[in-house]
Amino acid sequence: MLIVWLDKERKIIENIPRVLYLCCMIFSSKLLENAVSEVAQLPGIGKRTALRLVLHLLKQPKSQTHHLAEALIQLTEEIVLCKQCHNISDVEVCEICANPLRKKEVICVVEDIRDVMAIENTGQYKGLYHVLGGKISPIEGVGPQHLTIDTLVEKVRSGAVKEVVFALSSTVEGDTTNFYIFKQLEPFDVAVSTIARGIAIGDELQYADQLTLGRSILHRVPFEKSL
Ligand SMILES: [Zn+2]
Repeated sequence: MLIVWLDKERKIIENIPRVLYLCCMIFSSKLLENAVSEVAQLPGIGKRTALRLVLHLLKQPKSQTHHLAEALIQLTEEIVLCKQCHNISDVEVCEICANPLRKKEVICVVEDIRDVMAIENTGQYKGLYHVLGGKISPIEGVGPQHLTIDTLVEKVRSGAVKEVVFALSSTVEGDTTNFYIFKQLEPFDVAVSTIARGIAIGDELQYADQLTLGRSILHRVPFEKSL
């Protein structure tokens, strides 16, 4: 790939470190520069990748880029959070919460919509969800007040919930969040469970870490249930 290095006087200079090129990118078009700097705001996208993506869009038929822009505008203007489970939705009450066939007395606590999608894809869960919007993380400045824990407690307080299932990531933050919510729910007559953790299907036992293998032994299940 040919990279042309330009200084402020627009002379070609060579052997400038790449990092300098990235922060001193000079554009021949203000419109191009604006588009690149907007795309570069996205997580994981540097200016160089942003430039590549914008140039790709310019090569596409105009209608295709317009459809992308319209989809993004519609997304930001019309999307809402379900007022019951806080999942991303097109309507006030999402399809899952509005489905009369779902078990309304079981609530699965997850971090965000990706977890809802992952569990839904298994086809094994028929209850409702509660999307926290994150996990408690003092290092990142996320406390319980930043999450939707209060509304979960309110749901349980109403007496309509028989079981709360924790389905957060098996990390320090996930465990901290589970424990905090567990303490909040302790005064109420509700069963609190957590998704099983152990050896993944297809994993070789000898390569499993000690914690995972230890938990798998401790939380062993009757063989008939493993079938
Ligand atoms: Zn919902």
